Amino acid sequence: MKLTTRQFKQTARAELNDARTQKFLQILPQRLSALRQAAYQSFTDADATHRFGHAIREEVIQRLPELLEDFEKNALANGAQIFWARDSAAANHYIASLAKAKGARYVTKGKSMVTEELGLNEALALEGIEAWETDLGEFIAQLLGKPPFHIVGPAINIAVEQIRDIFLQKGVLREPTLDPVALGKAARQFLRSKFRDLQMGITGVNMAVAATGTVINVENEGNIRLNKSSPRTLVCVMSLEKVVPTLTDALHMLRVLCRSATGQKAGAYLSFDSGPRRPGEIDGPEELHIVILDNGRSAMYADPHTREALRCIRCGACLNTCPVYGQVGGYPYGWAYSGPMGQVLTPALQGLTDTGDLVRACTLCHRCKIICPAGIDHPSLLLYYRHQDVQKNPRLGGRGAALGEWLGHTLFSLAGTRYGYWRLFTKLARLAANRQRRGDWIHGISAYTQGWFQSRDLPALPEKSFHERWEESKKAEDKR
Ligand code: SF4
Repeated sequence: MKLTTRQFKQTARAELNDARTQKFLQILPQRLSALRQAAYQSFTDADATHRFGHAIREEVIQRLPELLEDFEKNALANGAQIFWARDSAAANHYIASLAKAKGARYVTKGKSMVTEELGLNEALALEGIEAWETDLGEFIAQLLGKPPFHIVGPAINIAVEQIRDIFLQKGVLREPTLDPVALGKAARQFLRSKFRDLQMGITGVNMAVAATGTVINVENEGNIRLNKSSPRTLVCVMSLEKVVPTLTDALHMLRVLCRSATGQKAGAYLSFDSGPRRPGEIDGPEELHIVILDNGRSAMYADPHTREALRCIRCGACLNTCPVYGQVGGYPYGWAYSGPMGQVLTPALQGLTDTGDLVRACTLCHRCKIICPAGIDHPSLLLYYRHQDVQKNPRLGGRGAALGEWLGHTLFSLAGTRYGYWRLFTKLARLAANRQRRGDWIHGISAYTQGWFQSRDLPALPEKSFHERWEESKKAEDKR
């Protein structure tokens, strides 16, 4: 997937002015957050459950290399084939070559963020292989050539008229209709035809169990199960942090994942696959290939700060609680992962040169940290990225400090360490700010500043500081 995070500010501005985006942002995040909150009530001790989830992900991070080796050993013993992909090019090449070797003219896909990260659809198209998204939201987004708007509702913001038009244009729909049920049925019938005589299906992986070599998927539409059971060859693509130690751990994480994502106690379909179809089984693939993707994660793991982002289980709860996502939606984040989840993953995987605005688009309100079932400390990570950006970290890159930022911090450090400078600078700042004063308010402070203050007024600043008034009153007292 092409990274467009460099245009974060422009896209965010456009989304702020888009009435449709704003309408959906008034509904979707709040609704999902309320559902999550209600679902968490079903735990006898929600805090303990939450903390147990943190502990499982903590263990995964501590033991990641060992768990991956165990997973590989057990998946191989189950009859699966494992491919370790160093980067997206290697993963795409493996999958495209496999599709060609199997004579697949097209493949079907279940919703998966990791294949968005790979840009797999585009890579397959270059090899002459069509990829069909089979999740309804992803299917609509694919037909429209749009990235996902939200991890749970990739096309939730698309107008029904737009869906009707694109369905008619692509031959999904024969007769025009705006009935959502009829549109859903048309998509289902169109995609069902793709599952017949399917050579190859591709899915992501929600969890991979080290102790059993099992890959787990959770979904609500049943399309992933069709992707897994219909084709002769199944490819499951997982980013390497998706591993968990045991089935018990996986079940616990599924309980918090489903509640955090959609407010369900469990997704409608849970698929556990340990190897390809065995003799006597009625469905399932003849071959199961598991692609374990690194794509920068080993380097991310080597840094004790950035490795924390590998805890993420892609539940999307942080998107729904984030005040920034709640204003701009998913498009400005410019890559596979949006919201706070994207803000901690994208800079580590893509570097800071293109993501400097992304790591600054945060008020550090801590809501994401509080809600995260994996125990990620997003605010600390964002401060770390900002620091590394200014320092031009050798691995992550970065833009260095802008002249204004460097000057501001240098002056602030002077003022903070030498009282004379503090007095001088605060006096100058007061004089400058009060030039815009009208009555009790300072308007038009944007003449000197950017961002936050462009749309805000300040209360007028007092003519004299507390210290100045204190000294004056002392002098007056001494004279008396
Ligand atoms: S960062 Fe935490 S809350 Fe956000 S998607 Fe990942 S696991 Fe869920």
